[in-house]
Amino acid sequence: MNTSKLKSTLKRVAAANRPELADLEYLLGLTDDRELALVYQYADEVRAQYCGSGIWLRGVVEFSSYCRNNCLYCGLNAGNKDLPRYRLNAEEILAAAEQIAGGAIKTIVLQSGEDPELDPLWLRDLIIKIKSRFDLAVTLSVGERSRQDYYLWRAVGADRYLLKIETSDRKLYESLHPDMSFTQRLRCLGELKDLGYQVGSGNIVGLKGQSLKQIARDILFFQENDFDMIGIGPFIPHQATALAAESKADLQLTLKTLALTRIVTKNTYLPATTALGSLGADYRREGLKAGANVLMPNFTPQPYRKYYEIYPGKRCINENAGDCGPCMEIMAGQINRNIDYSVGHTLKRGGEHGQKGTNY
Ligand code: SAH
Repeated sequence: MNTSKLKSTLKRVAAANRPELADLEYLLGLTDDRELALVYQYADEVRAQYCGSGIWLRGVVEFSSYCRNNCLYCGLNAGNKDLPRYRLNAEEILAAAEQIAGGAIKTIVLQSGEDPELDPLWLRDLIIKIKSRFDLAVTLSVGERSRQDYYLWRAVGADRYLLKIETSDRKLYESLHPDMSFTQRLRCLGELKDLGYQVGSGNIVGLKGQSLKQIARDILFFQENDFDMIGIGPFIPHQATALAAESKADLQLTLKTLALTRIVTKNTYLPATTALGSLGADYRREGLKAGANVLMPNFTPQPYRKYYEIYPGKRCINENAGDCGPCMEIMAGQINRNIDYSVGHTLKRGGEHGQKGTNY
């Protein structure tokens, strides 16, 4: 192993305003265990320096599994007629919000497929109710919508929005997303930022046909866009999709992507994703030791949880909402970290709430 080349490349990448693609590609291509350990350790140090030792929790409520899209990797694709679909009502979501707040968690993430029947005014009223009853930051993740909808929700206090680019390669993006457009995805991300949301994006690692160069470009895309949060998840094949026969992502490639995203983007919230916890074993600890600083416990109520099947083998589908609190504390303790129960707004732009620059 060439430790001096590795260390100098890591330093150069960390110091650069815009790292060299070739450096990122080289680091993504490392396979030696000791070299990988050095990359993860470097990312861990950057995380400690820019974000501290805290792990922030975001309580996720998957409130509708209806979806109009046919993403080639996703089990919720509209063509999957075998999957029973559900939609939670406002009372069920408010009960989940109460459990999240009761567990001292300060963020609720409302996620769904791109439900064609989602009424923007219904969601607006729900945000108002959540905000008036609980001390919760609200993150939305309901896909591509009009600027008007994004505005409507932001205006009543929605704080954050998650919309993964999935891959920053236009061609690969369009081959995986029939009837969707990369330009439209970028439009949505730009509008969300304009409206003053704290914006989360991210990618899937290990997609069919994805090269190390494309992943390196994803990392540069994250840096250019200065996202507040970036979710990096391994591809997990789902039986009812076009990619059923493909192999799942390589764990180390996922961890390298996470670690390099930390080293390049510094003070970003990076979750140890549920998908990382569902890759055969629970690798979220490894994620937390390679740059991650967020966990996203599931608060989707039973019996719906198993039907939000974006990929198979999703962890904790038989658990009840609220089981996660002690589990999160144990996980943090095992790696000498702590759960941070502060609201966890963006660490960018001086940690402001993302209000500045709003022009809606
Ligand atoms: N409709 C919302 C939420 C999508 S589901 C939106 O468009 O933003 C949340 C995430 O699950 C997706 O962004 C995608 O990155 C991930 N996902 C879906 N199928 C997956 C699979 N088979 N393996 C890994 N991640 C997957």
